[in-house]
Amino acid sequence: MATDEIARSRRLAVMGGTFDPIHFAHLLIAEDVRRRFRLPRVLFMPSGQPPHKDERAVTSAEERYIMALLATSDNPHFEVSRLEIDRPGPSYTIDTLRALKSELGEGAQLYFVTGADAVLEILTWRQPDAILDEATLVAVHRPGFDLARLDETLGARRASKITVIEAALANISSTMIRELAARGESIRYLTPRPVIDYIHKHRLYRRDEVAPEPLEETTA
Ligand code: ATP
Ligand code: MG
Repeated sequence: MATDEIARSRRLAVMGGTFDPIHFAHLLIAEDVRRRFRLPRVLFMPSGQPPHKDERAVTSAEERYIMALLATSDNPHFEVSRLEIDRPGPSYTIDTLRALKSELGEGAQLYFVTGADAVLEILTWRQPDAILDEATLVAVHRPGFDLARLDETLGARRASKITVIEAALANISSTMIRELAARGESIRYLTPRPVIDYIHKHRLYRRDEVAPEPLEETTA
């Protein structure tokens, strides 16, 4: 399939996340969903100001976007969208799905991909039922989260609209990478090499950074 055909395709998966940083489990899941549903493209959608993650200062949207670009640059079927990071204020999935649909026009078919932890929290998102109407929700198993609880957590009606798939399991999280990087430990094999290089070059997540000395105040 030619690159411009891929870019025009109206059947696509959307993979939302903070991506702080993007890692191999994200890529593995995206590729699995793409193959399984024969989708020409997957749109990675780094969040702007994440509504559920205000307890910690996240890496700038621009840096998270760049890392997503670096991680996906070798796959012609992967794209990174600026839609959420260019939108001021918190991003809500329902707004994103509707914006994409109106951009793509008639015939758009969206698959929204989430890990098990995220889908189990979907009732805390804005307009969960509208999300289920706008897109096919694909929930992917994740170590430590039990998708057997989907029915009791969301109710049978909602759960029946969700497609559960078992991608190759990888117990990787961005939290794990941030913690390793903070301690100066190896993050090899957890995310693609260009992302590792970027993290090192920009000293992201380092805790041991000594804050610059404050300029001496004049007391005169
Ligand atoms: P953090 O530790 O900062 O929460 P994360 O690894 O969970 O990071 P996110 O950006 O929060 O990554 O997740 C984006 C999406 O990818 C979510 O739907 C999440 O459930 C899914 N995901 C992330 N890691 C995995 C994994 N190892 N297995 C399955 N799904 C995953
Ligand atoms: Mg997460």
